[in-house]
Amino acid sequence: MEQGDTIVAISTPPGKGGIAVVRMSGPQAIPIVRKVFKGKEDITVSESHRAHHGWIVGGEEPIDEAVLTLFRAPNSYTGEDVVEVSCHGGVFVSRRILEVLSDRGARPARPGEFTQRAFFHGKMDLSQAEAVADLVRARTEASRKVAAYQLEGGLSKRVEQMRRRLVRACSLLEIELDFGEEDVEFASREELIRMLRSLRRQMKLLLDSFDRGRVCREGVRMVIVGRPNVGKSSILNSLVERERAIVTEVPGTTRDTIEDVLDIGGLLFVITDTAGIRESKDPVEKEGIRRAEQALERADIVLLVFDGSEPLTPDDEALARRTEKIRKSLVVINKVDLEQKIEISRLKRWIPETPFLKVSALKRLGIQELIRSLEQTVLSEGIPHEGEIVLTCVRHRDCIIRAEKRIREAEASVRKGMSQEFVALDLRGAMEAIGEITGQTTTDEILDHIFSEFCIGK
Ligand code: GDP
Repeated sequence: MEQGDTIVAISTPPGKGGIAVVRMSGPQAIPIVRKVFKGKEDITVSESHRAHHGWIVGGEEPIDEAVLTLFRAPNSYTGEDVVEVSCHGGVFVSRRILEVLSDRGARPARPGEFTQRAFFHGKMDLSQAEAVADLVRARTEASRKVAAYQLEGGLSKRVEQMRRRLVRACSLLEIELDFGEEDVEFASREELIRMLRSLRRQMKLLLDSFDRGRVCREGVRMVIVGRPNVGKSSILNSLVERERAIVTEVPGTTRDTIEDVLDIGGLLFVITDTAGIRESKDPVEKEGIRRAEQALERADIVLLVFDGSEPLTPDDEALARRTEKIRKSLVVINKVDLEQKIEISRLKRWIPETPFLKVSALKRLGIQELIRSLEQTVLSEGIPHEGEIVLTCVRHRDCIIRAEKRIREAEASVRKGMSQEFVALDLRGAMEAIGEITGQTTTDEILDHIFSEFCIGK
């Protein structure tokens, strides 16, 4: 990363708004803005955390009336001198201001470069920087919460505690090594094993929290299945009406699947409606079925819809049998407003473990209960509460999995009475793996990748 230059970007989203903010960071931030700012006070001698009112000019031409906010290093977001120009929120105005600042020597910032600088100056660690991106992206209360806790540093602290225990064990083992031939044991082997096991337990707890954390951060993948006309779309519509619809119909992963996105009880549900699963010889339908199967495999929850007003059909049976083994599913018997002809006991024989619900999408009966069951099925322990540490992203999970494996290997070496070097080597490996979560041992390549996913101006 190029340090020492001064970067600039429009930090607010493109479009019209009350104000727009152009942000600049680096050693030249204050001298550069001084060249284009006409106000009452001399900003080069201004204290930190002060706002100044005046005009941004290009040459002699006034561009916009603006308020500058000054943050001096190290007390700023990036840890460098930062100037935020709050101007009128037009697309053209903010772009002109960006231009005049670039003309005076600031370089346009790359995506996430402000946060990257904050990371390099020790303002936050990597998991906190990632939480910033998650907060920006958050679309529901659950995703906002898990990101905010991570930004607060809960995960960082837990990781640091674990790392410190490893460092201590490692240094004791390495002192032993320094004593060479003498047979000394600074680290009691029993204590060492106890400590390693307790670390693995902590890691296991974190790994167990991943499913919950992931659905909060990314949303719940829900698939609705059932043969045609049982009322899948109608159920979806009544859910949309009850709850806040965020976006409807975002393109799915495959060309012809449509996904609806819904905020149900503060959780994001990404809902795929499928044609259903049945025997077919038609190649087009076969392809549809293959995709439905794929969606089923990836689903966090499957809603099996049956028509209560009709007797069960072979297609219903095929579907029930196919989904029997899916961990989280709910059976919805629709059209309870009509005379019931469905053979419930037969259905229960096919899928004895799956909870049942009766609704009428048309008359809006049982929809609230359905919403409650969805929440409970997906998050039996609820949305994480404040202070609870959960893993939310695959990258962190992979680091912990690798660390846990190395600790297990170290433990085995201790049990076999192997020499300190082997044990210490594995412990170092574990330290490195968990250090990647906070960025202590992360390669530049991974760092660049993480920050490139940010938006410009963040
Ligand atoms: P899909 O093919 O499974 O998506 O089914 P639709 O949602 O398109 O519904 C098929 C038909 O069943 C439509 O004519 C709906 O109006 C009707 N329908 C859906 N839900 C109910 C219900 O709860 N009661 C009654 N009486 N009709 C319903």
